[in-house]
Amino acid sequence: MKPSPPAQPDAGRFTPHSSLCTPPLGLYIHIPFCTTKCSYCDFNTYAGIEPLLPRYIDALIAEMQRYPAGLPVQTINFGGGTPSLLSAQQLALVIEAARARFAVDQSAEISIEANPGALDQAYFGAARQVGVNRVSFGVQSFHASELAVLTRRHSAREAEEALHGARRAGFDNLSLDFMYGLPGQTLATWRRTLQRALDLAPDHLSLYGLTIYDHLPLGRQVARGELPHQDEDLMAAMYELAEDLLAGAGYEQYEISNWSRGERFRCRHNLAYWRNTGYLGIGAGAHSYFEARRYANEKRPNVYCDAVLAGSSPVVDSEPIESELAAAETTILALRLNEGAELTPGQVATLAPCLDAGLIDLERSHARLTRKGRLLSNEVFWRLLPD
Ligand code: SF4
Repeated sequence: MKPSPPAQPDAGRFTPHSSLCTPPLGLYIHIPFCTTKCSYCDFNTYAGIEPLLPRYIDALIAEMQRYPAGLPVQTINFGGGTPSLLSAQQLALVIEAARARFAVDQSAEISIEANPGALDQAYFGAARQVGVNRVSFGVQSFHASELAVLTRRHSAREAEEALHGARRAGFDNLSLDFMYGLPGQTLATWRRTLQRALDLAPDHLSLYGLTIYDHLPLGRQVARGELPHQDEDLMAAMYELAEDLLAGAGYEQYEISNWSRGERFRCRHNLAYWRNTGYLGIGAGAHSYFEARRYANEKRPNVYCDAVLAGSSPVVDSEPIESELAAAETTILALRLNEGAELTPGQVATLAPCLDAGLIDLERSHARLTRKGRLLSNEVFWRLLPD
């Protein structure tokens, strides 16, 4: 993407009173480092660039200085990539820099995504000491053959040990991520994965349907016939099985792909995203959205570091979000949440076919996806977008 011109989320773009009138923001920190690249992964993340890590930390801290001081921040989320490749000391440097630059809420949710394996209680204890209070583990499956298809590096046992290590270190807000629709996965293996997950009593669960991209190694294996194609009916059955099992175990589904042990354990960082209240993305390829504009950073970690450390903006693209589109996006994101969305009279009329098809429930002007609607949510969402 070509800059046009390179608008920057810099101090100059904010009014002098931005920190007073900006609603609390989520701060996303992108860590584009992984030990190896998984066969299905389309994220902006790279294997074999670990030597860049110290410089990258410096760049993250430098990028924060480009924002006006004192913006209110209520969550800090380290995503990636593999944030757990950062030492506790490196996490501390970034968290301290955020606290120094922004008005970070005293009770902010500070979360890291972690890949199981090579993470022990000592690591989690150190991470907790520096302020991390939530860990989200990318487990994906408890079956060795499915982990092998995904080329994940950890074993099922390592995932369990990592969760126990984090618990022993004192974490009381732990999430597990799993995927369904894996080549070779059956309803029976999915059920066993979910039951083993529930045995661990996580505070939060995220379940995602696998997207297979033709240009990635896993997609090529499927195209060559080495792995089976996905079966949409089976994926729908897996999703419904998960809804039933998790509800039976007392988990509250609060978003299409997310469940928690009650309101306290909902992911606050993602809730702000679904409520469309604005976020700052720091790091290579990170996106930001605030004051009705969306920004995208340079994706290549070395180029990102060069730019920021030379005092330049890492932003390579930005676009205004017109109010009509912003309103539609806000409704779509809110509909992802089980609490639903308030519709305008025009949106009520637009979604009449979805009401007839049983995809939404409507109470006056408040809409919520039905069970069927959660399976077919895109059928609802596209209708809300402006022409
Ligand atoms: S660990 Fe996660 S981010 Fe890294 S390559 Fe694998 S799927 Fe992608």
